[in-house]
Amino acid sequence: MLTGLMMDYQLTIDRVLEHGNRLYPHKKIKTKLPDGTLHEYCFHDLYGRVKRLCNVLERLGVEPGDRVGTFAWNNFQHVELYFGAPGAGAVVHTLNIRLFPDQLAYIINHAEDKVIFVDATLLPLIETVADKIGGVEHFVLFNGPPGGVETNLPGQIHDYEQLMTAANDEYSWRVEGENQAMGLCYTSGTTGHPKGSLYSHRSMYLHTVGSCQAAAIGLTENDVVMPVVPQFHAMAWGLPYAAINVGAGLALPGPHMQPAALAELIETERVTVAAGVPTIWNGLYHELKENRRDISCIRALVVGGSAMPRSLIEAYEKELDVNVVHAWGMTEMSPLGTVSKLLSHHQELPQAQKWDVKARQGYPISGVDMRIVNEEGNELPWDGTTMGELQVRGPWVVREYYKLDEGEDSFTADGWFRTGDVVTITEDGFMTITDRTKDLVKSGGEWISSVELENLLMGHTQVLEAAVIAVPDDRWQERPLAVIVPTDASDPPSADQLQGFLEPQVARWWLPEGYVFIDEIPKTGTGKFDKKVLRERYPG
Ligand code: ADP
Repeated sequence: MLTGLMMDYQLTIDRVLEHGNRLYPHKKIKTKLPDGTLHEYCFHDLYGRVKRLCNVLERLGVEPGDRVGTFAWNNFQHVELYFGAPGAGAVVHTLNIRLFPDQLAYIINHAEDKVIFVDATLLPLIETVADKIGGVEHFVLFNGPPGGVETNLPGQIHDYEQLMTAANDEYSWRVEGENQAMGLCYTSGTTGHPKGSLYSHRSMYLHTVGSCQAAAIGLTENDVVMPVVPQFHAMAWGLPYAAINVGAGLALPGPHMQPAALAELIETERVTVAAGVPTIWNGLYHELKENRRDISCIRALVVGGSAMPRSLIEAYEKELDVNVVHAWGMTEMSPLGTVSKLLSHHQELPQAQKWDVKARQGYPISGVDMRIVNEEGNELPWDGTTMGELQVRGPWVVREYYKLDEGEDSFTADGWFRTGDVVTITEDGFMTITDRTKDLVKSGGEWISSVELENLLMGHTQVLEAAVIAVPDDRWQERPLAVIVPTDASDPPSADQLQGFLEPQVARWWLPEGYVFIDEIPKTGTGKFDKKVLRERYPG
C-alpha cells in the first residue's frame, strides 16, 4: 500500500470549540432560566467559561478518563459541561432525569461517576438515590437559590458559580488523542440493564461534521437551533456540538418544556431548526391550533426518537406551513443514522405522496452503512417491501458496550451493530421502520407492524395517542390490542368507529382484536410509549 502524505490531524472536540470561538465569537446562546427569564451570552463567553470549568474539574481531582455526571435540563451550563469535561480529558456522562431511581443509581454506580453536576431545580429527583450513590465524591449545584440549599446528597457539595469565579480561564486542553473517550450515554433499557455507549473524540467530531452535511440536518450560521430533545438523551442528537461548529445560535428551553413555552421561545428567538420527539410536536401542534403564534421562522422541524405519524407531518405542513424533517437514530449511533428529505425525483410527485416519503425514516447519511438481514443472517434486498432486521456500521456507531458484564448479542461476527429495528428499505435507500423486534405482533406466522397501526390510528381526529401491543391468542399466537387516548375525554371515539376507520386502510387480519381507552399512555424515560408496562397491564 502506498501511504498518503497528509497530516495526522487529530479529530477532537476541542477543535470544534476553538473553531466556533475563532469564527463566531459573537454568536449567541440563550437559555430560559428556571424563573422564566432569558440568560444570554456569546460563544466567546462559552469559550472562557469552558476553560474555567476545566480548571474547576482539575481542582476537584478529576483525572483524564474519569466520568463526570450531569443531571440537568437543556441550558448553557450543560453546554459548558459538554465541552469542559472532554476538554479536561474526562468523559461527560449525561444522566437521564426521568429514569426510575433504581436505574439511575445503577447507571451512576456502573459508570463510577466521580463528580455530578446537578441542576438544583432537579435536586429532589437525584436525592431519591442519595443513599445508594456513596461513591460520588463531589456534587456541584447550579441554578440554585442564592444562599445555597440543604441536601442529603453524600460527598462534598459545591456551588458551580463560586467554583467558576475562583478558577482561572487559561487552560491547555488535556486531550491526548482522537480515540480518547469523551462522552457516555446509557440507553433507557426497556429490556435488561441499561447499556452504555462510550463515545470518542473522533466519533463525536465525525458525527458533528456528518450531521452538518446539507443532506443531513445541514445547520449553518444562519440558523437558530432549539434542541427540545434533552441534553440527557443521546447528546441532544449532537446539536450543541453542531451549532458551535457552524456558528448557529442556540435557544435552550431549560425546564420550560410545555407546548406554550416552546411556542413562545420559537416565536421570540426566531428559531429556524427545532428538534424533538413526536410527543413534543404533537403537544405543540394542539397548542398552536388553540393559540396561534407565528412560527414561520422554522425551516426544519426535526423529529425522531419514535415514528412521527404521517398525519402529523401533513398537519404541520398543510395547516401551519412548517417543514417536517423525519430522522432516525440510536444512542448507540451518537445518534444520527438517517434523514428523510425529498430528493430531486420526488419533486414531481403529488403532495400526498411527498408526505408518504417524509413519513419514512429516510436514507442513511454519508458515514452510516446499512443492511437488512433475515433471521438466518442473510442479507435482504432493498425493494421497499422485504422486511428484515436493520444492521449498521460506521465511524460513530458503537463497537461494544461500556463494561458490559452480561452476554452480548448486539454485534455480528462480521462487524455490524444489530439495531433491533425491523425495517424495509426502498431501492433509492429510504428506510421505513415497521417495528422493534420485540414489539412486532406475530399473528398466524405473519408480522403485523404495531407502528403502522399506531400511525393510522393517530390520524383519526378523535385520537390523541395510540399504542398497539401484542396479546396472546390461542389460534393466531398473537393479536393486536390498541390502547387509545382520546383527544377529548368527554367525546371518545367508539371501538366500532375506529375499526371502521382502519378497515379500508389495512389487511383484514391486521385489524385490532380490541380497543382500550385510557387517559395517558405510560412513557419511558426517553418519552416513548412504554409497551413493557402496557403488556403487563393488558396481559390478554
Ligand atoms: P432507548 O429508547 O432504547 O433508550 P434510543 O433513544 O437510542 O434508546 O432509541 C433508539 C430507537 O428508537 C431506535 O432503535 C428506534 O426503534 C427508535 N426510533 C428512533 N427514531 C425513530 C423514528 N424516527 N421512527 C421510529 N422509531 C425511531
